[in-house]
Amino acid sequence: PSALRELAVEVPCVGWADVGGLDDVKQRLREAVEWPFRVPGALARVGAQAPRGVLLYGPPGCSKTLLARAVACEAKLNFLAIKGGELYSKYVGESERAIAALFARARTTAPCIIFFDEIDGLAGTRSDDGAGGHVGDRVMAQLLSEMDGLQDRLGVVVLAATNRPDCVDTALLRPGRFDRLLHVPPPDASGRMEILRVKLQKTPVAADVNLQQLAERTDGYTGADLGALVREAGLAALDEDISAHHVSMHHFEQALQLVPPSTPSSDHV
Ligand code: ATP
Repeated sequence: PSALRELAVEVPCVGWADVGGLDDVKQRLREAVEWPFRVPGALARVGAQAPRGVLLYGPPGCSKTLLARAVACEAKLNFLAIKGGELYSKYVGESERAIAALFARARTTAPCIIFFDEIDGLAGTRSDDGAGGHVGDRVMAQLLSEMDGLQDRLGVVVLAATNRPDCVDTALLRPGRFDRLLHVPPPDASGRMEILRVKLQKTPVAADVNLQQLAERTDGYTGADLGALVREAGLAALDEDISAHHVSMHHFEQALQLVPPSTPSSDHV
């Protein structure tokens, strides 16, 4: 059906090195997703089980999507991504079938990750289906039954992300479903320093640029904010001199004025 054709399979080419900081989260993802594929049997030897589903939660712009893509790439798994709410807007009236098609597609492209971004949006829609039922309930039931049907040999693992863990249907969190929860927090100063390094890979900086100081002054900035900061600093350098080859500290000062932090500073948390 049409829904099948629209689900693009992509092999994203971002790796662990593209994700600054978050060493613990990376390690947990490796254990949960990479190991079962790379070293089958290893978990069983120590009496552990591979999770069917891993839920990444934390504020927007802190690399949940990036991490999902990185683990897929590093473990050489195919990657099918869909946003919770998209199932409703794109596939009106056939949302459950779209879920079934998604899992069918994942099985045929295994080893494969299915990534549900904004999974809270999946249950969030409680619109009436005209027959006294709720579309959201049916979609959720379909997802639960697909997840319950996953077996190790199928080579499909489900990742999901949310900014609002409190809005995730608790049925999804039962054992055998999303039973691994990973918090992806805003970066601390050392994380921000590493993110700045990642973001500055292709940007020559002048000798006066002090990354440590920038990292300390960007409390509350997410990875996405730091990306914007570096972009603005580059533009400020070009604004000053269109033939500029370097970005200097005063360009970062200008960028700091333009790009505010999008999470509360940790001093106030
Ligand atoms: P949302 O909830 O809005 O989907 P998210 O947590 O999934 O947010 P991403 O989409 O992964 O966030 O991050 C947005 C962008 O911010 C990334 O494409 C990347 O450029 C940058 N970014 C965020 N965190 C990091 C990081 N730790 N290292 C490098 N870049 C980062």
